[in-house]
Amino acid sequence: MTRITLTSSEQETSALGRDLGPTLPIGTTLLLRGDLGAGKTAFVRGLAEGMGLPAEAVSSPTFTLIQEYRGARRLFHVDLYRISAMEADDLGLDELTTQGVVAIEWADKWTSPPASAIDVHIEDLGGDSRRVTIRTAE
Ligand code: ADP
Ligand code: MG
Repeated sequence: MTRITLTSSEQETSALGRDLGPTLPIGTTLLLRGDLGAGKTAFVRGLAEGMGLPAEAVSSPTFTLIQEYRGARRLFHVDLYRISAMEADDLGLDELTTQGVVAIEWADKWTSPPASAIDVHIEDLGGDSRRVTIRTAE
């Protein structure tokens, strides 16, 4: 299923993540794609909030490749921006998915994501406009 939403503020993009948060079972992988400044981290901030986790703590994990948030369900926020595809494949991301919900920025660097992953593509349409395309496997 593919859902396309146009947002016109960071809050609206976060809200899409927030709405998704309560629905995601452990084992869910979200693959976030889009240029620098598209709103991937904003989306994950909303996701954390929707999972009942401290959203204000969510930022671009610049020096930590993987940021873990613990709650009723764990959220792993991964940012592959700074590493190579080869390094990304060595991170053991598959293993992480058994432990919680995994949201991955710059997910294109992971060459073998699970087929069941949810794809979140954010495109900058200029100004504060973004097109957010959320595609689920079924
Ligand atoms: P990314 O993680 O994709 O690099 P961030 O979420 O860190 O992007 O940053 C997105 C930037 O774009 C923020 O400064 C945010 O305020 C701004 N912005 C403006 N409009 C939007 C929008 N519609 N959705 C998301 N972010 C927006
Ligand atoms: Mg980011």
